[in-house]
Amino acid sequence: MSTLTENLESIRARIAAAARRSGRDPGEVELVAISKTHPAEMLREAVDAGQNLFGESRIQEALEKIPLLPGRLRWHFIGHLQSNKVRKVLPLFELIHGVDSLGIARDIDRIGTELGIHPRILLEVNVSGEGSKHGFSPPVLEQTLEELLSLPRLQVEGFMTMAPLSPTAEASRSFFSALRGLRDRLASSSGVPLPTLSMGMSGDFEVAVEEGATLVRVGSALFSGC
Ligand SMILES: *Cc1c(COP(=O)(O)O)cnc(C)c1O
Repeated sequence: MSTLTENLESIRARIAAAARRSGRDPGEVELVAISKTHPAEMLREAVDAGQNLFGESRIQEALEKIPLLPGRLRWHFIGHLQSNKVRKVLPLFELIHGVDSLGIARDIDRIGTELGIHPRILLEVNVSGEGSKHGFSPPVLEQTLEELLSLPRLQVEGFMTMAPLSPTAEASRSFFSALRGLRDRLASSSGVPLPTLSMGMSGDFEVAVEEGATLVRVGSALFSGC
């Protein structure tokens, strides 16, 4: 078995075990293979091992790679999206993870209208308050959510966050649980379900699953040693 296949099977098993530990159905959690910086051949190996959902953060790189791979694959955009790139990104990616301002949300909505599509997005939340991070602060999100939800084309499916870098996975737990709590409250007050929580990376995806992640974004743990 190739290293990539072994890594993939081990990550899937760890996701499933974390789900069961917390009383969740492993089928509620999907692995987004973060393939940025990795060449198309390596992604093809992951496809052969059964992975068909990938996340990319750099538009130029994605534009070059996606046409080299099977058309049935699904792609998520996980990078910081700028207004002038929206038109390129929307047709290629089924979900945009990092929508971090009302301005970019309006741009996505407007271009969705032009393209005749209903873009699916996640709102990025800066739960930790770190200055270096993108995302809505929780209070700003609360103030802005109604307006975001009123944009006619935009399908707001939930939230995404990144925990601060830390040597231990446990350090991420409070941020993930805070995001889930915020989601529960805002879903209840807005009446919009917001079912998707994108949280957890190579170092902390099991904790994220225990705290309610429905999408985990795993790159280095999957491709390391390949
Ligand atoms: C690169 C990246 C990841 C994957 O990080 P790993 O630690 O390599 O698993 C996840 N989310 C975002 C937003 C990223 O940019």
